[in-house]
Amino acid sequence: MNVLVINAGSSSLKYQFLNAETAAVLARGGAERIGLKDAFIKHSLNGADPLTLVIDLPDHKVAVQAVLDALTSDQHGVIKSMSEIDAVGHRVVHGGEKFASSVLITPEVKKAIRSCFDLAPLHNPPNMTGIEACEEAMPGVPQVAVFDTAFHQTMPRKAYMYALPYALYEKHAIRSYGFHGTSHAYVSQRAAAVLHKPYESLKIITCHLGNGASIAAIRNGRCIDTSMGLTPLAGICMGTRCGDIDPAIVTFLQEKEGLDAHAIDDLLNKKSGVMGLSGVSSDFRDLYAAAGEGHKLASLALDMFKYQCRKYIGAYAAAMGGVDAVVFTAGIAENTPDIRLGACDGLTYMGITIDAYKNNAVKAREAVVSTDDSPVKVLVIPTNEELAIARETARVCGIAI
Ligand code: ADP
Repeated sequence: MNVLVINAGSSSLKYQFLNAETAAVLARGGAERIGLKDAFIKHSLNGADPLTLVIDLPDHKVAVQAVLDALTSDQHGVIKSMSEIDAVGHRVVHGGEKFASSVLITPEVKKAIRSCFDLAPLHNPPNMTGIEACEEAMPGVPQVAVFDTAFHQTMPRKAYMYALPYALYEKHAIRSYGFHGTSHAYVSQRAAAVLHKPYESLKIITCHLGNGASIAAIRNGRCIDTSMGLTPLAGICMGTRCGDIDPAIVTFLQEKEGLDAHAIDDLLNKKSGVMGLSGVSSDFRDLYAAAGEGHKLASLALDMFKYQCRKYIGAYAAAMGGVDAVVFTAGIAENTPDIRLGACDGLTYMGITIDAYKNNAVKAREAVVSTDDSPVKVLVIPTNEELAIARETARVCGIAI
């Protein structure tokens, strides 16, 4: 089954066209600067270097059509006609409490996604624009919504509620939702497969450490807790996001620095994290380079990131009453042995021991990096959210994979 996976942002539209059964990626790319001048599409076939197609893209509808034209083009296409696209899978960031799994998009589903706009004002509206653009361009092709929040809907109330007046939960749906659910689900299932253990029998802690970073506790195949909250700002510190801080800092800063709500939001989301602290960069490659040259704040940022990961691993082992596997995924964790080592440092008493030699040899590939006698297995599993979305799409369309 050929699935077109769409991740629509406000001025961008990333796509991957892949076979959900074989996982073969036929084409991938993205339309950028939609609605702006100098728009373009980057389009690459079968892993080849991307072609850049400069093209006017006034809106998402034109962008979707341009992607379809690229996929079916004589020169750089991969299919003869649109009829070879069996379904479209859309990444939708927020499903609120309405969606605990992926769904076929219907008018009712669209209404429910719209009702979550307030919870993800930067993400859900462009996701919807992408859905409607595809519906128009490909009438009759099944469209499926796959939510970042859905996997975390199994969290118990004691994990997802905040100790705020209950009326605020009833009025504004303020609670923890968690994000990166597609990735946490995918890598935890892969980990069970790599370990040859039934998924439903395991206690797994998944650490998705990319520009956005979150950690999840998965017991018997169900998420029971995760570090992000109402928004993707909570949890461990990230590239530019502060992660967990004392909430009183918000009002303190408003008073001392005269910041309004918008400025605070900008400060905590875009100017904080390892970048804000170190003043170097949000990119961990730059942080390691700076730390290597003696930059003290870069070293501090790296130490804090590892320490915060470690605290969550400890907390989630306690929450689950034990842990069988710790899984590292996404850009930072897949590529940086030192982050994995630091996140598990001192946890031998919990049965978690990394094999430094094995760990150093692993970058961006599936591997077990714990010692042979470590009771808890530590794994690196590269995430593949597009494949997970394609498989979810196939499942919703009734194709068993
Ligand atoms: P996103 O959340 O944008 O999907 P990714 O999972 O792609 O993020 O992670 C991006 C981050 O991963 C980069 O900002 C960088 O900090 C880190 N990263 C990527 N490649 C490497 C590498 N080879 N070494 C160290 N860090 C890396």
